[in-house]
Amino acid sequence: HVAATAQLTTQPAAPGRITLVCADTGYRRSVDRVRRDFVTNVSHELKTPVGAIMLLAETIGDAGDDVDMIRHFAARIGVEAKRLDGLVRRLIELGRMNAGGERSAAAVDVRGLVAQAIADTEVTAAARHAVVRLRDAAADMPLPVEVDAAGMRIAFKNIIENAINYSPEGAVVAVELSRAGDEACIRVVDHGVGIPQQLQGRVFERFYRVDPARSRLTGGTGLGLSIANHHVRANHGRITLWSRPGEGSTFTVALPLAQNAAAPDGPEAADA
Ligand code: ADP
Repeated sequence: HVAATAQLTTQPAAPGRITLVCADTGYRRSVDRVRRDFVTNVSHELKTPVGAIMLLAETIGDAGDDVDMIRHFAARIGVEAKRLDGLVRRLIELGRMNAGGERSAAAVDVRGLVAQAIADTEVTAAARHAVVRLRDAAADMPLPVEVDAAGMRIAFKNIIENAINYSPEGAVVAVELSRAGDEACIRVVDHGVGIPQQLQGRVFERFYRVDPARSRLTGGTGLGLSIANHHVRANHGRITLWSRPGEGSTFTVALPLAQNAAAPDGPEAADA
């Protein structure tokens, strides 16, 4: 689908030499469009909470000494600020991704990464009174993977955080580790709201949210799974999803086990 055009230009500085410039215009146009759409989406996502915060702050200014009203609007400012905070964090993750951080692959034991990712979700879990349980079905064998540890840690964190956010308060989320052939499997199981079958492919798209209103309350941006998917794929793995509305969701990440890996590193290796 790529339309390529070639232009011939003569170099005045080097008589007799011809430079062939191959401009892949179709590809460039589609990159431009993706970039434009992205900027439009981000601008929109930023504008909404910023506008709301400004309006709410103005309303508080007019509230006089009505304490209940002030509290109510202050809480709503908190929700919008959380949304902004979520977006900024995701933009930082995206920036890191585009900087090509995933090239720094090293052999680590996947347990260490998963343990770190669970620790990264502590604040979210505490806010929703949720518990994240690690079940290791491969405790007696190493699960070395050669990955960009920081990227994979973000991927696991995003998936686990979703499991917490899209479940009722006080939920128990299970993170299960196992080995299947030459792959390490990491399953994140929740019993939350679930995702309708026809939308399951779309949740990995940038900015896609099944229920924007619910996701706004949790500071959701629609970017978490697309970032997770990017890292998993960049590390030669894949994500699969099972889900049923009202029953819950299971996200499974399969990563190839490192061949001839040296003694796997401990959790501290994931700090790299
Ligand atoms: P968000 O920041 O909105 O959570 P994500 O890209 O992480 O964005 O997820 C995209 C959408 O997929 C979410 O808005 C939500 O509708 C749905 N989703 C993701 N994980 C789960 C889950 N564990 N249970 C139910 N729905 C989920």
